[in-house]
Amino acid sequence: MRKPFVAGNWKMNTDSHTGVSLAEGVACGSMDIAGRSVDVAVIPPFVYLQAVVRALNRSHIAVGAQDIYYEQKGAFTGEVSASMLKDVGCIYVLCGHSERRHVIGESDELVNKKINAAICSGVLPIFCVGEKLEEREASLTKEVVGRQVRSGLAGLDVEKASALTVAYEPVWAIGTGRTATTEQAQEVHAMIRKLLGEMYDAQLAQEIRILYGGSVKPDNAADLMRQEDIDGLLVGGASLNADDFVAIIKAAS
Ligand code: PEP
Repeated sequence: MRKPFVAGNWKMNTDSHTGVSLAEGVACGSMDIAGRSVDVAVIPPFVYLQAVVRALNRSHIAVGAQDIYYEQKGAFTGEVSASMLKDVGCIYVLCGHSERRHVIGESDELVNKKINAAICSGVLPIFCVGEKLEEREASLTKEVVGRQVRSGLAGLDVEKASALTVAYEPVWAIGTGRTATTEQAQEVHAMIRKLLGEMYDAQLAQEIRILYGGSVKPDNAADLMRQEDIDGLLVGGASLNADDFVAIIKAAS
């Protein structure tokens, strides 16, 4: 039985004050369920990580980062390593988010190095994959997502891969208000799980959590969560409002 997992990606939003009150609002609203019937994480910008970790100290909500660099330390101006994230209390890190792939230009190879570096430092990657609109329209979804999964996990043995959460986020559904239908999402989730079974083994495929992301809101969360292979939700815009995010957490729990 896979425990539901809901993560809120704040992207480049909030400030030192609103970030802390958002975290406190989420902790307060989900007090009875977070960590029990549902795992919850918030993913603030780097500069607010420590303040949010402190604010969530007494809660069961984990904190994640939006990115890492794969080297541990040295002359990499502007970058942040996995061991630094661990040092400030991060449990999770997003790897390969669509905005990093398509706005910043990250390759599958770079995502693979980041996943590997995170796992080696004990930070749990949330590995994001998803096709662009033109790829879906050209019936290339399975091919694109399959390639992202294979390349992102290249060289990772079963033990390392078991530290992963996968997030399927169709690029055309992120921040657009356009959600994949439950059937579209379930189909890709099932395909990813099958592929993980082929790459690793049936046990890993059954245990790994696959989140859906892309315009998740309080009113579509429960339907998505009813799908057999959807184990949780990666939420962007709606995670910036404590009431909406708590409603999504409750729908998932
Ligand atoms: C995301 O940032 O991963 C995301 C899914 O954003 P939104 O919920 O706003 O589409």
